[in-house]
Amino acid sequence: MSTDTLRLAERMAHIGLSPTMKGTIEAERLRKQGVDVVDLGAGEPDFPTPPHVGAAAKAAIDSQFTKYTANPGTSELRDAVAARYRADYGVNYTGEEVIITAGGKQALFHAAMELFSPGDEVVTHSPGWPTIVEQIKLAGATPVPVRTHADSGFALKAANLLSAVTPRTRGIVINSPGNPTGALLSESEAKILAAEAARRDLWIVIDLCYERLIYDAVPHNLPKIFGDAMRDRLVLCGSSSKAYAMTGWRCGWLVAPKPIVSGANALQSHSTSNVSSITQKAAVAALNGPQQCVQDMLLEYQKRRDQVLAWLREEPRLRCSTPQGAFYLFPDVSDFLSVDRCRTSLDFADGLLKTEHVVTTAGEAFDAPGFIRISYATSLERLREGVTRLIRYARSV
Ligand code: PMP
Repeated sequence: MSTDTLRLAERMAHIGLSPTMKGTIEAERLRKQGVDVVDLGAGEPDFPTPPHVGAAAKAAIDSQFTKYTANPGTSELRDAVAARYRADYGVNYTGEEVIITAGGKQALFHAAMELFSPGDEVVTHSPGWPTIVEQIKLAGATPVPVRTHADSGFALKAANLLSAVTPRTRGIVINSPGNPTGALLSESEAKILAAEAARRDLWIVIDLCYERLIYDAVPHNLPKIFGDAMRDRLVLCGSSSKAYAMTGWRCGWLVAPKPIVSGANALQSHSTSNVSSITQKAAVAALNGPQQCVQDMLLEYQKRRDQVLAWLREEPRLRCSTPQGAFYLFPDVSDFLSVDRCRTSLDFADGLLKTEHVVTTAGEAFDAPGFIRISYATSLERLREGVTRLIRYARSV
């Protein structure tokens, strides 16, 4: 077979598998050899899915709710998402302005495919979750990441985002709370951004996948602020994954005016069709059922965040800002890097895994060399062990 026959489509030249996968593969190899690996790499809750959610799924199977549903999801679930956003944010969307997607990731993918074309620029921010940039590239558009900085807690500033806007800019994609930084777009910055985006006819896409994981009761009503200023050009992407510990169920949603939902529906009808019928029943139970489980997990994450931050301070050269949301810490490890031994944060994370068997994610994965991401979606006991090994390793390089 000639190499030409094996050549993939042009769009594949621009994307690669997430660099976070490498650590996971090496960790798996070590575990199989019986090594005690501390995994601080996880991008998902360590809590079980709440029992009432699982019970709804079992009931769906037992009652044979196991066939295709309407492509954009059942009206019961679409209404449940609209009702949750009404209760949480005071915004008025109908179920017809909601489509149920295979995770927040697919909602964001639909948004990118629908809104962005070759020649368009799309402003986003870094350090940031790599999928956002890759999806913009898959749409043929050019991502323009605006850098945020550790000394201000990676705060997103409207002025910085707007300074990247050119006549070619089609929209801005924001992830708040952000992965890997845990930073939020504050309400005051959101108001400035919303007014300007409305004036300049920009699209705003907000990745709200960590919206229920915000600490210290920081106000974060982005749906209302942007909705009041520019509802017609606002796309909200959310997910049951993190809030309800449902990553494996694959259920997210896109909330937007009807033409956007219709476009997403067309894309989805020719790709994945409806989200699993069983998952949809589970998600109804999650959204309409008691919300105390979300609060309980949030409190536990907050306890871990504060504790791990305190432990990291045992080594002052591991500088780390306090995240306001999500479940990651993003310490600066650049004080431990040198030209001869450990040159980059990728080397640091590799060495940490090889010598101390701790999985973290190098900042390079998030367009942020010099940092590593620590997930605290694991028990305090494992976190203590992981930080002890991390500090021992840092002092040895
Ligand atoms: N956005 C961000 C910032 C994420 O970190 C993730 C999951 N890693 C997602 C979206 C998508 O999650 P899901 O598809 O499971 O809803």
